[in-house]
Amino acid sequence: MNLTYSTEQQRFRMEVRQWLADNVPRQKLASYDTKEGFEQHRAWERKLSEARLSMVMWPQEFGGRGCDLTEWLIFEEEYYGADAPMRVNQNGQLLLGSTLLDFGTEQQKAHFLPRMAASDDMWAQAWSEPNAGSDMANISSKAVREGDFYIVNGQKTWSTRATFADWAFGLFRSEPGSKRHHGLSFLMVPLDAEGVTIRPIKALNGKDAFAEIFFDNVKVPVKHRIGDEGKGWQVAMATAGFERGLLLRSPARFQQTARKLVQLYRSHKASADRNPAIGVAVSKCWSDAQAYALSAYNTVGRLNRGEKIGAESSINKIIWSELDLAIHQTAMDILGASSELLASAPLATERAYWLEGFLFAQAGPIYAGANEIQRNIIAERMLGLPKS
Ligand SMILES: Cc1cc2nc3c(=O)[nH]c(=O)nc-3n(C[C@H](O)[C@H](O)[C@H](O)COP(=O)(O)OP(=O)(O)OC[C@H]3O[C@@H](n4cnc5c(N)ncnc54)[C@H](O)[C@@H]3O)c2cc1C
Repeated sequence: MNLTYSTEQQRFRMEVRQWLADNVPRQKLASYDTKEGFEQHRAWERKLSEARLSMVMWPQEFGGRGCDLTEWLIFEEEYYGADAPMRVNQNGQLLLGSTLLDFGTEQQKAHFLPRMAASDDMWAQAWSEPNAGSDMANISSKAVREGDFYIVNGQKTWSTRATFADWAFGLFRSEPGSKRHHGLSFLMVPLDAEGVTIRPIKALNGKDAFAEIFFDNVKVPVKHRIGDEGKGWQVAMATAGFERGLLLRSPARFQQTARKLVQLYRSHKASADRNPAIGVAVSKCWSDAQAYALSAYNTVGRLNRGEKIGAESSINKIIWSELDLAIHQTAMDILGASSELLASAPLATERAYWLEGFLFAQAGPIYAGANEIQRNIIAERMLGLPKS
């Protein structure tokens, strides 16, 4: 691992820093779990894309800058360091986008990637079903082939921001009678298609952050399938790897939250120091965020040399989700009982930021594959332990 930056990388960092200083909205955008906030974020991400900064790693022809993973880490450090808005199109750009680059046809890439980079299309993930959460191979939603179309029926659930998104991607059983991970196809479905019904689900923060999606004889063109018919599981596993691994949660996100935690501790030092454990917890959160960043550089160095990370992405998922919990729990401990003030309370101020983050952090060990499942993967595939 070489931790020095090249002149070109430093120039890139300075360019991004300047652009963000000139363009990050001064006023906080509304929550992207509301229709109004979702559209504000879309507009912001469109602006990012006009500077070719929405997906810096993608090739130029798809709206990116052809950056490597080190430059992506640099971009993320600057993005979070500038306190720029959370990005709402990451499910599309980071997960489906990466999947399309690896498995999509040339026509799919040319059509979908530039629209995704520009946030013309916003994407939701549609994997989970009422009986297929951790056990994703239990998917029962069907896609029956009729000529150039699939007729899709079934139900998906917990689909983040599907209430506001334009498209969803997920797995559907396309081979009648097939079992488990066989006979599934990976499809992209427009959410305004006839036969699609979206029913919002409220998250812990009280907003319509998720939705159930019902498919009732929805016609999906075969050209919207990624990968071979019946071989969607392999494609989906690559998407899941992007989610658990580096891409969805870059270390810069946690470094920035840890920096804010240190500031919070300093501004409440007199009361926080009544419990010496708090100072220790703050130091640990800060150091763990730095350690995660260093481990990410190590991983990037290995990927740049052509190595693969495979099941190790499960370790990553556990690290970032537990770190997020620890940072927010420590902030709540610093703020004491007042940490529970809702954003609408006159005295809430910065507390609302921490409460919102604390509530969302509870979900980290669940989404992107529950941590218990990640521990199973580590035990079986990395440590070679028996299944039972
Ligand atoms: C904030 C958030 C966003 C989400 N966004 C999306 C989205 O956009 N699209 C989407 O499709 N889904 C989404 N999900 C759903 C998420 O993927 C599922 O909640 C997750 O996969 C767990 O499935 P489940 O809820 O059905 O729980 P279950 O699978 O029923 O698990 C319940 C508990 O049992 C444990 N468990 C289950 N099986 C095992 C096992 N074999 N060994 C040990 N423990 C086990 C689990 O770890 C968990 O603690 C989201 C969830 C959250 C919280």
